[in-house]
Amino acid sequence: MNCANHPEAPAVAFCRECGKAMCQDCQRPALGSIYCQDHVPVTAQTAATPPPLPSDYVTPGPAPPLPIPRIRLRCRRPWWPTRLRTPFSR
Ligand SMILES: [Zn+2]
Ligand SMILES: [Zn+2]
Repeated sequence: MNCANHPEAPAVAFCRECGKAMCQDCQRPALGSIYCQDHVPVTAQTAATPPPLPSDYVTPGPAPPLPIPRIRLRCRRPWWPTRLRTPFSR
């Protein structure tokens, strides 16, 4: 099944009203459902819809995880004499 408007584009959704196949560019999500251009609710048309992305738009993948710096604790002992009270306690 391909888009009714773009025979070369595979359909990704169907209009809730007429069941017409729509590609990514033709679908009109509105009110929690997907409609075609002809049946999109009027109240939803005024809502701000993102402009269609260019065909060569590449969706940025998830950012690579930040490398976790490996901090080797060279000395696990506190730097102050353990006999004394910690300098941070009052
Ligand atoms: Zn429709
Ligand atoms: Zn289309």
